[in-house]
Amino acid sequence: MDDPNPLGELDNLLKGEVLTDTVSRTLYATDASVYQALPQAVILPRDVTDVSMIVRWAAQKGIPLIPRGAGTSLAGQVVGNGVVVDVSAHLNHILEINAQEGWAEVEPGVVLDDLNRAAGRHGLFFGPETSTSNRCTMGGMVANNSCGSHSMVYGSTRDHILEVKGFLASGDEVTFRPMQKWEFDKKCREEGAEGDIYRLMREIYTDNPVRKQIRKEFPHPDIKRRNSGYALDVLLDTAPFNPQGELFNLARLIAGSEGTLLFMTSVKVALVPVPAPHKLLLCAHFSSLQEALLANIEAVHHHSPDAVELMDKKILDLTLDNPLQRTNRFFVEGDPAALLLIELSGEEEATIFEKAAGLTAAFKALGLGYAFPIVTGKEISRVWALRKAGLGVLSNMKGDARPVTLIEDTAVRVDDLPAYVEDINAMLGKFGKSCVYHAHAGSGELHIRPVLNLKESADIKLFRQIAEETAGIVKKYHGSLSGEHGDGRLRGEFIPLMVALPIMN
Ligand SMILES: Cc1cc2nc3c(=O)[nH]c(=O)nc-3n(C[C@H](O)[C@H](O)[C@H](O)COP(=O)(O)OP(=O)(O)OC[C@H]3O[C@@H](n4cnc5c(N)ncnc54)[C@H](O)[C@@H]3O)c2cc1C
Repeated sequence: MDDPNPLGELDNLLKGEVLTDTVSRTLYATDASVYQALPQAVILPRDVTDVSMIVRWAAQKGIPLIPRGAGTSLAGQVVGNGVVVDVSAHLNHILEINAQEGWAEVEPGVVLDDLNRAAGRHGLFFGPETSTSNRCTMGGMVANNSCGSHSMVYGSTRDHILEVKGFLASGDEVTFRPMQKWEFDKKCREEGAEGDIYRLMREIYTDNPVRKQIRKEFPHPDIKRRNSGYALDVLLDTAPFNPQGELFNLARLIAGSEGTLLFMTSVKVALVPVPAPHKLLLCAHFSSLQEALLANIEAVHHHSPDAVELMDKKILDLTLDNPLQRTNRFFVEGDPAALLLIELSGEEEATIFEKAAGLTAAFKALGLGYAFPIVTGKEISRVWALRKAGLGVLSNMKGDARPVTLIEDTAVRVDDLPAYVEDINAMLGKFGKSCVYHAHAGSGELHIRPVLNLKESADIKLFRQIAEETAGIVKKYHGSLSGEHGDGRLRGEFIPLMVALPIMN
C-alpha cells in the first residue's frame, strides 16, 4: 500500500506544496520519452530554503531526488521512483539582467521565452533556441545542455554558462564559477564534499594516462552537439592544468549532467545581441543523399551559414500526404533525393544575396545539386514549417513498419557524415532495413530513424541489435551517441562504451 505521508516530518517544515495523491504522482510519472515510473511524492519548493531542506532530508534518508523543469526531456531524464522536485512552479524568477555586461541570472524554473522577452528589451537574447522554448526551463536547458537549430552559430547551453549555484547531494551549498589557479588550489585544501570534488578534479586532470584517455575516448572537439556522459573533456585544458587555458569553471561540467551532480537554485548565463536583420534560405536540391552530404561540407567550411538542415526523399514524400505541408513545398523542384535548407544572414540585404550566389557557384563547380531556389521574407517560415513537420509526418507512414526513434540523436564531424551514413546504410542493409535521415546536417547531427515493424518479434530483436551496432559505428567516427537530447535512461547504458574511463566508476 502507498505510504500516505512518505516525507514524514519534512512535510510540515516546507513552505511549498507536497503532492502525494495518485493523480499528481501519475502526472509526474512521465516526460516526453517512452519511460514511466511512479514517484513516491512530488514537491513544489517555494524557495531556496525549501530546496536546502529537501536535499538534506533526501541525503539522510537515502532517497533519490529528481529535479524537474517542464518535463520535456526525450530520454527519461525526469522519470524515476524517488521524489520529484518541480522547480517550475515557484523558482521561476529572473533575478537580474545586466545588459551592459551581457548576462542574466535566473532561477532554474524560468522559461526560455520569458527570459528572451525580458532580454529582448535590451536587444539581447539567450543564444541556444531549443524548440520547446515556450515551456522548457533554464534549469532543464543547463542540465540537458540543450541547443537549437542555430547551434552552428550559438553552440549549446554550456557555451553560455557563467555560474551556477545550488546544493550537492551532501546538502552543502556551492557556487561554481570561473576561478584562478590560487582559488582552485585553496578549494582543494577545503574539508567536506566541495573540497572532495576539487581534489577529484585535480586527480583526474593531473594524471597523464587519464588525460590521454579523455582525449582519445571523448567525441572529437569539432563536434558541437555532444551530450554523452559528463563532459570531462571540456575542463582538460583549463588554467590550473594548462597555463594558457581559460579559467577553470565547474559550471561547464554541470551543463549536461542531467540533474545528477548538483541541484541548481540559480543559473547565470551570457546573453548575445539579437541576430543580423537580413536573412534568406538557399534550398539546394540533390539527386542523392551522398551529394547533399558532400555539399554540406562545402557550405559549412567555406560559406558561414547560420544553419544547414537536411530533409531526405522519404520524409519529403511523406509531406505530400499532408494538405498543409503540400502547400509548404512551393519551392521544391522535381523529385529531389535530398534537400539542404541553408540559412544565410548579414547586416546588409545585398551581402546575403552575394553569399547565396557564391555558394551556388561553388556547388555547381563541384557538380553538386541541380536546383538552388532562394526563399526570402515571410516565406522562410513556411519552409521551416515543412522541415519541422518532418517529425510529425513520419508517424503517417502507411502500414505497420514505421521509422522508429532508435538512433535519433547521433552526431559526428561534418566531414565524416558521408562515410558515417554509408556505414549506417550498410549495417541496416545487412538486416534488409532502410531508414529516414533528416535534421541538423550543418552540425553533424542527423535524426536517423530505421523503418521497423515493432509488431513483429524479429524487428523487436533487431531494435536492440541496431542500437548496439550504431553505438559501435558512432564510436568509430569519434562521434557522440547523443547530439542534443542527452543520455537519460535511454542511452545511459552506452556511456561506458562511448567514453570508457575507469575513473568515471
Ligand atoms: C517536441 C520536442 C522538441 C525538442 N526540441 C529540442 C531542441 O530543439 N533542442 C534540444 O536541445 N532539446 C530539445 N528537446 C528536449 C528538451 O525540450 C530540452 O532538453 C529542454 O531543455 C528540457 O527542459 P525542461 O525544462 O523540460 O527540463 P526537464 O525535462 O524537466 O529536465 C531536464 C533535466 O534537467 C534536470 N533539472 C531540471 N531542473 C534542475 C535543477 N534545478 N537542478 C538540477 N537539475 C535540474 C532534470 O533532472 C533533467 O535531468 C525537445 C523536446 C521535445 C519534446
